[in-house]
Amino acid sequence: MKRDELEKFQFKHLKSILDHAYNNSEFYRNSFREAGVSPSDVNSLQDLSKLPTIVKDNIRKDQESKPPLGKMTAVPEEEVVYISVSSGSTGMPTASPFTAQDFEDWMDYEARLFYSSGMRSTDRYCHALNMSLFVGGPCVLGAQKLGALCIHAGTIPSERLLRIMLQFQPTVTWTTPSYAWYLGETAEKQGIDVAHDTAINKIFVAGEPGGSIEATKKRIEQLWDADVYDYYGLSDIFGACAGECEEKAGLHFSEDHMIVEVLDLKTGEQVGENEEGEMVLTTIKKRARPMIRFRTGDIVSYELDKCACGRTHMRLKGVCGRTDDMLIIKGVNVLPSSVEPVVRGNKKLSGEYRLVVDRVDHLDVLTIEIERTCDCKGDPKILEREVQRDLRAVLGITPKVTVYEDGTLPRETHKAKRIKDNRKNVWK
Ligand SMILES: [Zn+2]
Repeated sequence: MKRDELEKFQFKHLKSILDHAYNNSEFYRNSFREAGVSPSDVNSLQDLSKLPTIVKDNIRKDQESKPPLGKMTAVPEEEVVYISVSSGSTGMPTASPFTAQDFEDWMDYEARLFYSSGMRSTDRYCHALNMSLFVGGPCVLGAQKLGALCIHAGTIPSERLLRIMLQFQPTVTWTTPSYAWYLGETAEKQGIDVAHDTAINKIFVAGEPGGSIEATKKRIEQLWDADVYDYYGLSDIFGACAGECEEKAGLHFSEDHMIVEVLDLKTGEQVGENEEGEMVLTTIKKRARPMIRFRTGDIVSYELDKCACGRTHMRLKGVCGRTDDMLIIKGVNVLPSSVEPVVRGNKKLSGEYRLVVDRVDHLDVLTIEIERTCDCKGDPKILEREVQRDLRAVLGITPKVTVYEDGTLPRETHKAKRIKDNRKNVWK
């Protein structure tokens, strides 16, 4: 579709979703009223900027105010057929609801993204993303829709995954960049050469910035003798919102489902092509819970001109940073502030803490450093296990925990520096 036709298409669907949200979602009705705007004020795509933006915390608070789906949800619960649940990086996990049609639409364009990356019905696809609660799980159904033979592997132990790859010889897989590397290395230690012993010729990666870091991408490609395609998704919107085509000239955004704004970090104005700004997304078809001007916190740049593949959808030039101090560990979003309630809530601890991130064998390792109070004696290992268990419940991943004596960790007089990121090239 030509850009002007695409924009007409987007505007028609935007109008429809704004009316739907205003009429059926208490959250949007209130937030629009507070901002003094109504859907009738939006007479062009540019007018979208008149509407208020939302952040992840709005979703969390909304769901707390009306459990389990919140006032943002714009359909009665009987129309909801699926929810994904995001890792509780801000304390409480949030749900993303879909109607049957929303889910169909989603799988339809997942299939299209896969096709654009060169997957065909003759491929065998091994889905190695987390299948439990995670919004990336159902994306495998998009591959089925395309007609590929699909193996719903999920995050199984690497020995088992390798056995499946050797036995059934899948040609395509999808995982995080660091896991693709780890798996290849693990295989090597077992005498398996993934470049020759498996049939994998395409690896889709998502959930970490690595897929857009040229050096990381190249090394994974060499290890597997396969093409790496970067994908981008968001737990509160869709498993994949964008993916690379065979030209690998950026990630084509599914703009017939979403409107992408890239806003200047200081002025909040839309930036031009190849300029950096925060990506703000608006879903224009998702009826269960429309996302109107959702601030992703991801700093991106984009290109609009027609790709050599012939597609006109905007190309995302990878994610180059975050607006907040969110860490991405093993594909899971971790906000340092989510550690605090656990550390501060335990009377055996001083309340001081620090997050240390290292990259060991191309896998990110998060260590939470804490201090025990002077009254707390005994084996620190017991305390470490206890805090580890509590943190796992909140973070969705299992961090390492190291207990120090009271007074060991640095005290900051100003804004506490609680992160020590020892990884190199985290961002592009
Ligand atoms: Zn393209």
